[in-house]
Amino acid sequence: MINMTKSIYSILDKAYNTYSLDKSEISYLLKTEENNKIFSAADKVRKEHVGDKVHLRALIEFSNYCKQDCLYCGLRRSNTKIIRYRLEPQEIINSTKKATEYGYKTIVLQSGEDLYYTIDRMSKIISEIKKFDIAVTLSIGEKTFEEYKAYREAGADRYLLRIETTDEVLYAKLNPGMSLKNRMRCLEDIKKLYYEVGSGIMVGLPGQTIESIAEDIAYFKSIPIDMAGVGPFIYHPDTPIEKTKGNYFELTLKVMAILRLLMPNINIPATTAMDVLNSNGRLIALQCGANVVMPNATETTYRKYYEIYPGKICINDSPKYCRFCIESKIKSINRNVAKSKGYHRSSLNLAEKHERTQK
Ligand code: SAH
Repeated sequence: MINMTKSIYSILDKAYNTYSLDKSEISYLLKTEENNKIFSAADKVRKEHVGDKVHLRALIEFSNYCKQDCLYCGLRRSNTKIIRYRLEPQEIINSTKKATEYGYKTIVLQSGEDLYYTIDRMSKIISEIKKFDIAVTLSIGEKTFEEYKAYREAGADRYLLRIETTDEVLYAKLNPGMSLKNRMRCLEDIKKLYYEVGSGIMVGLPGQTIESIAEDIAYFKSIPIDMAGVGPFIYHPDTPIEKTKGNYFELTLKVMAILRLLMPNINIPATTAMDVLNSNGRLIALQCGANVVMPNATETTYRKYYEIYPGKICINDSPKYCRFCIESKIKSINRNVAKSKGYHRSSLNLAEKHERTQK
C-alpha cells in the first residue's frame, strides 16, 4: 500500500528541489485531499521567489462584442440577451489615464473579438497609452501574426490568451469554429514576438479531467509562460453549456499552487472569478501561490454588460473605489502593493530582444 503522507512530502520535495514533476505526480497533487500541504509549499515558494509585493493590473473591459461563439462565455455571439457596448478609442485612452492617476503601472485591455478595432485603430490606442509610462497587456483573443506584430511594435508588452484547455476534443466542442491548434499557434506567435506570454485555463469545465489539467500545466511549463491566469468555470444561464456539478474553488487553488511550485518566479493572478465562489477568494489565492491582482478599472456604466459569467463582483463600484478597496484587502494579509511595472524577472530583457529583431 502506498504511504499517502510519505508520497505527498516526496512529491513536494521533488518540486521544491527541481521545479519539475511528471504528469502522474501532478495528477496525484490534483487528486489528493491534503490540499493545505500544497498551499503552504506554494506560499513559501512564492515568498522566496517573488516576495510579498502584489502587482496590480488595471483591467479595462473595452468591448463585449465578440465574433466567437464559445459555449461557456456570456459574450458569445449567439447570446442575444446581452446588451452590447464598445468604447471609442478616446474613451479607452481616458480610462487608462485615469487608472494611471490611481497608481496603476500596468493596464490590461480586454475585450471580445471585436472587428471594429482594426489594426490601425488598435495600434493607435496602444501607442497613445504607452505615453503614460505603463506596461500594456492585451487580452483581445486570436489574431494573425501580422496583427500581433503590429501591436508589439505599437508598444504592447504582454499578451494574455488562455489556452482554456489542452484537451483537443473538449476544446473543439467548447469553441465551435475554433481549434486548439490555432490557439497554440497564437501563443507561439506571441512568444516569437517577445511579448511576455500570459495564458491559463478554466477549472471545472464540463468534460474536463484531472489528467487533462495535468497536461495543461505541463504545456505551460513547456512554452514556458510568464504569467498564468487560472479561474473556476462559472455557469452562465444564457449559454448552451451544461451546468457544472460541484465546487471547483479548491481545485483551482491547487492548479495555481502547482504552477507556482513548477514555475517559481512567474506572475500568477488571484483571479476575479475566485471571489464569485468565496468572498475572500482572491485573498486566499494570494496565500496559495498568487502574486498579482487585476482590479476592474472599467467605468461603472459598462461593467454589468461585460458579463462573461454571472455574479461578477464590483459591478456597481467605480475604478477609484476598486483601487483603494483592493489595497486595503492586500494590507489585511500583511502584503503590500508593488510600485514597479512588475515584469516577469526572466523576461526583463525582452524589450531589448524585440528591438534587436526590428533592426
Ligand atoms: N476574447 C479574449 C478575452 C476572453 S475573456 C480571449 O479570447 O482571450 C477572458 C477569460 O474569461 C477567458 O479566457 C475565459 O477563460 C474566461 N471565461 C469565459 N467564460 C467564463 C465562464 N463562464 N466562467 C469563468 N471564466 C470564463
